[in-house]
Amino acid sequence: MTQGQLKIHSENILPIIKQWLYSSKDIFLRELVSNACDALTKFARLCEEADRENFRIDVKVDTENRRITISDNGIGMTGQEVETYIAQIAFSGAEEFLKKYETHQEQDQVIGHFGLGFYSAYMVASLVTIQTFSYQQGAEPVCWSCDGSSIYHLEPGTRQERGTDIILQLAADEDEYLDHKRLSDILHHYCAFLPHPIYLNGTRINDQPPLWLKAPSECTNQEYLAFYRKLFPLDAEPLFWIHLNVDYPFNLKGILYFPHVAQERDFKKDSIKLFCNRVFVADHCQDVLPEYLTVLRGAIDSPDIPLNVSRSTLQLDRTVRQLGQHICKKVADRLCSLYKEECSRFLEIWADLELVIKFGLLQDEKFYDRVKECVIWKQANGEWATLEDLLAGKEEKKLYYASYDMEHHDLLKLYKEKGLPVFLIRTHHPLDLAVLHRIEEKTSACFTRIDANLDEAILDPTREKNLLDAEGKTEGSKIATFFQKQLGLEATQVEAKSLASHSLPALLMQQEQQRRLQEQLAYHKQTRLPFKPTLVLNTNHKLIQAIYSLEAKQPQLAQDLAQQVYDLALLSQREMDPDKLSGFVTRTTELLEKLTCTS
Ligand code: ADP
Repeated sequence: MTQGQLKIHSENILPIIKQWLYSSKDIFLRELVSNACDALTKFARLCEEADRENFRIDVKVDTENRRITISDNGIGMTGQEVETYIAQIAFSGAEEFLKKYETHQEQDQVIGHFGLGFYSAYMVASLVTIQTFSYQQGAEPVCWSCDGSSIYHLEPGTRQERGTDIILQLAADEDEYLDHKRLSDILHHYCAFLPHPIYLNGTRINDQPPLWLKAPSECTNQEYLAFYRKLFPLDAEPLFWIHLNVDYPFNLKGILYFPHVAQERDFKKDSIKLFCNRVFVADHCQDVLPEYLTVLRGAIDSPDIPLNVSRSTLQLDRTVRQLGQHICKKVADRLCSLYKEECSRFLEIWADLELVIKFGLLQDEKFYDRVKECVIWKQANGEWATLEDLLAGKEEKKLYYASYDMEHHDLLKLYKEKGLPVFLIRTHHPLDLAVLHRIEEKTSACFTRIDANLDEAILDPTREKNLLDAEGKTEGSKIATFFQKQLGLEATQVEAKSLASHSLPALLMQQEQQRRLQEQLAYHKQTRLPFKPTLVLNTNHKLIQAIYSLEAKQPQLAQDLAQQVYDLALLSQREMDPDKLSGFVTRTTELLEKLTCTS
């Protein structure tokens, strides 16, 4: 028997490993099973095809003796190799890893913990024994054991056939790892896609190779959907998917699925599983992908993502950045091709796509340039259009928009009647306004809300009340002054206009920039700016004329009605302050009462 001393700086590796990796102890199984897998892959290169059929990895639990054994019939190790690979190289690897780990704060944890390898066994074991028998001719089986102190033992082993057993004597408080279900969950989680058969107490864990390895041209829709269900059994069916398959300048395979994301809270679900050579590493790729794409689901497999570096270092890695950019490009290309080739489907799922597209174009210039042609807006006439469609044939790059809240408003009807294109956005949500702002920065387009500036086309100059009386005042200006007095709105401007509408008595106008600022502040729950609109009275509306004519006969009624007109404008444009609502209701009731009494 040989006794050796690990080249060690700290006296005992076990407490250090426990201290630093306690939170992710489960990975010991991943590390040992992937070592077993590597041992099989190494031997696969040296043997006949027929021999590979018997390849297997067995995880067996001996509850009575509190032992877990991980066996493989891979390449095995000679005594010399055990000394080199386990006692020297693996140990210095673990030691180096721990040093890195020690210097990192909680929030800057390494991404995948890979690199700890064999010594992660000491997270759960008080004694680790290796029984191994090398494939090499004339090799003798050897047994290595170490209790986590710096002394190990190497002696003749008992293994009769090629391969390796790693036997873990579980530490006192680690009985959870004797539980079949627990081990099965860990193996399914980390090892479901490993290339060699894995059995837990005789039951097969991994049944099929991951779909991302298959050529995209050979995958059927059913296979893509089945694979999605395997990854995310509880999820609704995805909308579409992108199969990634790159060999150069980096290696990347994977399938990204686009899920239903109708709401912002569907974001940040951390749902792209990260694999390295088919071994599960992490539940998310947030360090590899920009935020707006982390909503995608699926799996990516790349040996080129450095896993045992801190997150901040990872983001600086050139390959990782290239890889992230490649994925962004693929997603943008897929969205554009979907729009061009399957437009009706694109429109159908737009509600799910738009958040990602809009967040993406705000966060990423390149993404903006790629997807700009498939950003669509619903028009007031019900049709959908891109910005290009909206600007087509227009000399002036001014475009009108309205809030979805105003979809049935008479002002919007008027714009429609006059053939002025208006598209709809969601206000009270910063996203659409921010997107408009970005488009204005990037193009010559200029967006104006329909109630920010009245287009000439909706006015009827032929009926304008602009005859001057003896005092040099027009009837229009007299109506405006009258309303201003009735309403007592010194701060609010009142204008009388001849609108080409019989159904719209009045509306409120507010400057574009002021409104945008107001919406933004309101969304961020900051102080609400005082709403200072201009009240526009339609001098062609019978109601306005009738109220004006009441001035002399029934001044109180005139005042109440003027107030009512103002409040109705507020209400119809969704601008009424909630605490003003009850006053409005009371006054309406009183007015109705008066009406019924007089009739
Ligand atoms: P890594 O796997 O990252 O190289 P490890 O600490 O996990 O580091 O393992 C160190 C080395 O020990 C491996 O590279 C391999 O040569 C050897 N080894 C570990 N497990 C086995 C095994 N089951 N069969 C054969 N060799 C193994």
